[in-house]
Amino acid sequence: MSEKMNLDNIAISVQSHRLLDSLLDENPDLKKIMEDSANEAEVLDRMKQWVFSTYKEREEALSYYGAKKADRFMFEQLSWQDYAIIRILDYIDHAGETYEDLNRRGEIVESDPFRMLWLAVQQGTGGAKPGFFEDMIQLFRQLRGDTDRVVPGKEKLESWMDRYPSGLDPRIVQLRKENKHRILSILIKKISEGTVKSRSYTFPEGLSGEEKYAMAEEWWNDRKFHLRFAVRNPDLLNEMLGYSLDPDTMKLLKEAESAGIPFFVNPYYLSLLNVREPRFAVGADLAIRHYVLYSKALVEEFGHIVAWEKEDLVEPGKPNAAGWILPSHHNVHRRYPEVAILIPDSVGRACGGLCSSCQRMYDFQRGNLNFNLDKLRPNEKWPDKLKRLLTYFEEDSQLRDILITGGDAFMSTDRTLENLLEEVYRMAARKQEANKSRPEGEKYAEIMRIRFGTRLPAYLPQRITPDLARILRDFKEKASGIGIRQFVIQTHFESPMEITPETKEAVGRLTDAGWIITNQLVFTAAASRRGHTAKLRRVLNDIGVLTYYTFTVKGYKENSHNFAPNARVVQEQLEEKVMGRIEKEHYPVLRTFADDAEHIQEKINGLRSKADVPFLATDRNVLNMPGVGKSLTFRVIGITRYGRRILEFDHDETRNHSPIIGKMGKVIIIESKSIPEYLQQLEEIGEDPLEYTGLYGFSMGQTEPRVPLYEYPDYKFGVTPDYTNLEV
Ligand code: SF4
Repeated sequence: MSEKMNLDNIAISVQSHRLLDSLLDENPDLKKIMEDSANEAEVLDRMKQWVFSTYKEREEALSYYGAKKADRFMFEQLSWQDYAIIRILDYIDHAGETYEDLNRRGEIVESDPFRMLWLAVQQGTGGAKPGFFEDMIQLFRQLRGDTDRVVPGKEKLESWMDRYPSGLDPRIVQLRKENKHRILSILIKKISEGTVKSRSYTFPEGLSGEEKYAMAEEWWNDRKFHLRFAVRNPDLLNEMLGYSLDPDTMKLLKEAESAGIPFFVNPYYLSLLNVREPRFAVGADLAIRHYVLYSKALVEEFGHIVAWEKEDLVEPGKPNAAGWILPSHHNVHRRYPEVAILIPDSVGRACGGLCSSCQRMYDFQRGNLNFNLDKLRPNEKWPDKLKRLLTYFEEDSQLRDILITGGDAFMSTDRTLENLLEEVYRMAARKQEANKSRPEGEKYAEIMRIRFGTRLPAYLPQRITPDLARILRDFKEKASGIGIRQFVIQTHFESPMEITPETKEAVGRLTDAGWIITNQLVFTAAASRRGHTAKLRRVLNDIGVLTYYTFTVKGYKENSHNFAPNARVVQEQLEEKVMGRIEKEHYPVLRTFADDAEHIQEKINGLRSKADVPFLATDRNVLNMPGVGKSLTFRVIGITRYGRRILEFDHDETRNHSPIIGKMGKVIIIESKSIPEYLQQLEEIGEDPLEYTGLYGFSMGQTEPRVPLYEYPDYKFGVTPDYTNLEV
C-alpha cells in the first residue's frame, strides 16, 4: 500500500479557479463558510449546522440519512433535493477517511471534499481538478432546487430506442450479408493459396470460384469453422474488416498484442461490425465494437490488473471470502447458500470470443490464456473428478441450484455436456434419495434449478444445433421426473445489433427444448446511451428472452473506458427501465413463465400488451461487489480530487447471503471515471449531454426487489436451517 499524498500545497488550475468562482457566486452561504472558517474542523462543523438548520423541514431526507437500513420504499419517497442533502451530510461524516484506490495502482486517497474546497478558497491549493468542481457545482444546484429532475415520458423513450436498429432489421441483415461475403472471400483466398491450412476445411482440386464459395457458405453454418478461423491478431482483424480500422486504433491493437492480450474474434461475430457507417445505423454497432477493440487504459494496465472478485480466490479446504469451503481450486465457485457455479475442465473454459472488459483479463495477464482449444479438451481423469465435484452439491445442505459455466458452457462438446447432465441427474437423484431418511426439518435442499451460462447465442449461434437442443430437451424430460423445476440458459447480449436471424433461430431451438433464456447485460458506456438498453430489452423479449441482470462494469482502471458511472445505472433504472415496470397484479402470470418455456414468446407478448409496456423490466441493475454478492444499495460518501466518486455499498437485503455478511462491513468502491469524463465520452460518441441532464444527482441507489420469476419454488418439506461447507 502506498503512502497518502499530501495535496495541501498543490495549486489548482486556472480552469478549476473559474469553476470555483462560479460555485461561490452561486452559493453565498457556502462562500461565507469557506472564507470565514479558520480550519477544516470549523468548516465541517458550520457546514453541518447550516444543512441541518436550512433543511430541517426535509424529514424524509433526514430520516433516510440517519437510518441504519434504509429500504426501497424510503428511497422512493426522496425528493430530488433530498439526494443532495444526504450527499453533503455523508461528505461531512466521512471527511478525512482514506482508501486504497486500485484505479491508481493502490494509491491512498483521502476523501475530504470540503477541506479541498476550503484550501482552494483560502490558498488556491488542495489539488482538486476541474472534474471535482464541476461535480460540486451540480451538487449545490441540486441542493438549492435549481435543477429539477425531468423524467422523460414514453414517447421520448421510444424516440431514443428508435435510434438503435436491431440485427433483425432487413437493412442490417443486408449489411451483414455483405460483411459475410467479404470475410468468406478473404478466407477462401487464404485457404486456396495455402496461407491458412486446415484439414477439415480444404477445397478439392479443380473447384470453380463459385463452387468454393458455395462450400464455404456451408462451412459458415458450422461452429467449428468459426472457431478454427477466429482472428487472433490485429493485422488479420483489419484485413477482415476491409482495412477500415484507423491507424491509431491499429497502433493500439499492436501494442495490445505485444503486451500479451489475446485476440479471438470469430468470423460470424466479426460480420456484425459495420465497415461503413450507414446513415440509418450511425453508432449502432458501438457496443459490439467496444467489446472487440481494446482501449488504451486496458493496454496500459495489462500486467497490473488486480482481481476484482475476492470470493473467486479459492484454496481447497479453506473458506473463500464468503466463508464457503470448496472442493477444488478452479471448478467450483460460490457466493450464496443456494447456488454454486461448476466450471468443467473442458473446452467450456474458453469462450466464443473475448469481451474486452472480461474479468478474466486478470487471469490472462498471468499467462492463463483460454483460447488454446486443443489443450482444453477434457482428459481421461475428468469423469472421475466430475463425480467428486458433484458430491459437493449432493452433500451440501443448502445447494439447490447449479450453474454450469466457464468460460462458456456451450463451448463444450455435446458429448461432454451430455455426460455432465447425466452425472448431474444422478447426483440430484441421490440427493433426493438420501433425504428420505432425514427427519422433517432436517432435510437437505434438493436440486431444483439447472443453469447453463453461455454467450454463444450472441457470439456463435451456430453452436445451438438441433443435436444440442435434443440433449437439453431429453435432460429436461428426465430431470422433471425427479422434481427439478427450473431449466435456464443464462446468456449475455450487449446490443440489439447482436440479435440476428441466426440468433433468433438459436433461441427458438433452446426455448422449444423447454429451457427459458435470461440475459445478463454489462452496462458499458456504449450500452449506457439513452434508449440502448431499453431497446435491447424489447428485442430480447421479441425473440423470447427475459432480462435478468444489468451489471455495472467491474474492474478498475483497465476497464475505465467501458465503465459507466453508477449514477447513470440508477438514472437508467429510474428513467428508462421504469417504462417496463411490472406491477404486482401481474406477478401470478410472471410466475408461470419458467414452467412453459416452449410458449415463452406468446407469454411475454401477452403480458407486455396486458400491462401496456414496451418490454418486461425483469432485470435488476446491480454491481457485482468485490466481496460478497450483488447490490445497487449505495450512497456517494466522498469524491477524489479528480472528481471520481467514492461509493459505499451495502449488501442486497432482498436475498439470502452467507452468514459471513453479518461480520462484513460495507464495501467501498472508487469509480474509475468521473461524471464529467463520462459525459465527455458520451459526447465523443455522438450523444447530446443535455439528454443526460440530472445525471449528477443520482448519488444513491437501492437494490430493486427480484421479480418472482427468479425465485426458487418452495419445497413440500422443511429444509434444515444448518449450513454445511461453511466456516465463518
Ligand atoms: S463471454 Fe463472459 S467469460 Fe467469456 S470473455 Fe465474455 S465476459 Fe468473459
